[in-house]
Amino acid sequence: MNILVINCGSSSLKFQLINSESEKVLAKGICERIGIDGRLTYQAAGSEKTKTEKDMPSHTEAIQYVIEALTDNETGVIKSLDEIGAVGHRLVHGGEKFASSVIITEEVKKAVEECNELAPLHNPANLIGVNACEKLMPGTPMAAVFDTAFHQTMPEKAYMYGLPYEYYEKYKVRRYGFHGTSHSFVSKRAAELTGRPYDATKTIVCHLGNGASVCAVKNGKSIDTSMGLTPLEGLVMGTRSGDIDPAILEFIAKKENLDIEGLMNMLNKKSGVQGISGLSSDFRDLTDASLAGDKRAKIALEVFSYRVAKYIGSYVAAMNGVDVIAFTAGIGENDELVRAAVCSYLGYLGIEFDEDANNTRGQEIELSKPGSKVRVFVIPTNEELAIARETEALIK
Ligand code: AMP
Repeated sequence: MNILVINCGSSSLKFQLINSESEKVLAKGICERIGIDGRLTYQAAGSEKTKTEKDMPSHTEAIQYVIEALTDNETGVIKSLDEIGAVGHRLVHGGEKFASSVIITEEVKKAVEECNELAPLHNPANLIGVNACEKLMPGTPMAAVFDTAFHQTMPEKAYMYGLPYEYYEKYKVRRYGFHGTSHSFVSKRAAELTGRPYDATKTIVCHLGNGASVCAVKNGKSIDTSMGLTPLEGLVMGTRSGDIDPAILEFIAKKENLDIEGLMNMLNKKSGVQGISGLSSDFRDLTDASLAGDKRAKIALEVFSYRVAKYIGSYVAAMNGVDVIAFTAGIGENDELVRAAVCSYLGYLGIEFDEDANNTRGQEIELSKPGSKVRVFVIPTNEELAIARETEALIK
């Protein structure tokens, strides 16, 4: 079966057409600047990438262009829409309503809408993608795969904040966690690589991308993760602060004359390694600058790795041990210096770190030497494939 995987943002829409039997990507691309002007980047497997300016007043036109490209006589990989068996949509926030992926119905859409205020930037955009697909592909089954669902196994002691309980009761203020599809995919793969049963393995997944989170997966279930009600909590990220003393907000608001919107903008867009370095949120820029002697770039990189190592330590405590640690996403897969820095704190776990193996990028590889008490891997994440697998399982 061919499955169209859609990741829809407010002005962009990423897609991949994946064959579920071979797990090969038949074609992929992105529509950008939707609602502004519009650009389609499209690549069929084995062909060159093409970029075309297209008029995209809304997501419906964007999906229409995607369908046209996929079925085009020259660039296409399928003859007609009938060859798409299902659509898998990435949805960011499923709140407490969704502990797993589901087939999309009117009821499901309503329930997702009720989670909108928990992810006001993402969920409404995700739903626009669902509606646009339904309009153009009536009758094709669609699945919703939530970023939060994998973490619904967290126990109360992990998800409750030290806040008045009524905020949980009235507004569902609690920790949810994100990147669930990636944490699930990578932790499963980690168990496979070690030859251990998934339901008897303690794994810590470090999803280190522009957004970054760490997850403790005990016996196949997420028992804790570093992001919270929103993706702002936890690690120091590209432009997000992660954990801070909440009293800083009042202090800075008064000093800088900022309102709540200004504060949130600062925390989400002007903080993290970008804020510390004053230079860039991209780790390649920071590494270059740090090697050239830039002090703030060096501090930013050290703060980032130190925070990751502290979270790993806390999850070792939460699981009473760890069998595997996995690095994934843009930084985790590609930045050998960050991986080495994080692992430099983990000698107490009996990790024997293989510096030579670490000098590789973007590949699945073991970073621990034979005999290491805890095994360490780089496992490239593949959220689209995970969504396609979930979608197929639901359809079947
Ligand atoms: P992601 O959000 O998973 O796409 O990760 C994006 C981030 O990965 C970028 O902002 C970079 O900081 C980082 N990244 C990507 N490629 C490299 C690389 N070759 N070396 C270091 N960092 C990289």
